[in-house]
Amino acid sequence: LVHAVNVMKSFHGNEVLKGIDLDVRRGQVVCLLGPSGSGKTTFLRCINQLESIDGGRIWVDGDLVGFREKEGHLHHLTDKEVAAQRRDIGMVFQRFNLFPHMTALENVCEAPIQVKGTNKKAARARAVQLLEQVGLGDKPSAYPAQLSGGQQQRVAIARALAMDPKLMLFDEPTSALDPELVGEVLRVMRDLADQGMTMIVVTHEMGFARDVADHVVFMDGGVVVEQGKPRDVLGNPQHQRTKSFLQRMR
Ligand code: ATP
Repeated sequence: LVHAVNVMKSFHGNEVLKGIDLDVRRGQVVCLLGPSGSGKTTFLRCINQLESIDGGRIWVDGDLVGFREKEGHLHHLTDKEVAAQRRDIGMVFQRFNLFPHMTALENVCEAPIQVKGTNKKAARARAVQLLEQVGLGDKPSAYPAQLSGGQQQRVAIARALAMDPKLMLFDEPTSALDPELVGEVLRVMRDLADQGMTMIVVTHEMGFARDVADHVVFMDGGVVVEQGKPRDVLGNPQHQRTKSFLQRMR
């Protein structure tokens, strides 16, 4: 579903991604691990076109991300085409970014109604279902300020799912949470994985990576140092950089 080849990205001459390759098959859960500053967030943002890439190519579901190829040349997509590509990708951030003046239910309904033109009744019915799925069936009328961080993050997941994405990107979804709230969010993500959602997850939760990921990618300094099955990368790392990172995480 995702095929990235030699992806490069610099900020003001600072090379943050130095040729990232990644393949994610449909239904797979891929965890991106690595020290702070290794480029994990930037790579996710490139997949979702929150950043433009300077080199390489990314395909999502067979479509070249951000560009059209014509007679060997790349042409930027129009804003409308970019928006259409982004619609199929759900993203959950470290901070939940809910609309503060809207209830949980309204947060979840907003994009389907505004972006997809779903009728209000259908959007609300689906939102009720999604809130139930994330364990918040009893909170449709709550405002974000009335919810805990873990609950807000679960609303954010429901909101992303409301667009029926092909792919879900999670950028350290639990790192801003109090420790006792981490489990409820990971549980929702695990259920989503069990249901066959394709997911790329940047996380420092090694337990989640070990138990849920089909594939683990360890990044450092803008390159993929090592990747493979969780039991190999986490249990028997081959590279010194992976070993010392994992030791620090223990
Ligand atoms: P973390 O776990 O801290 O989020 P990360 O592996 O996700 O780390 P990135 O957030 O992708 O790493 O950042 C990689 C590098 O890119 C950092 O040095 C950061 O300062 C730099 N960077 C990221 N975004 C920008 C930006 N918009 N402008 C300039 N530099 C940026």
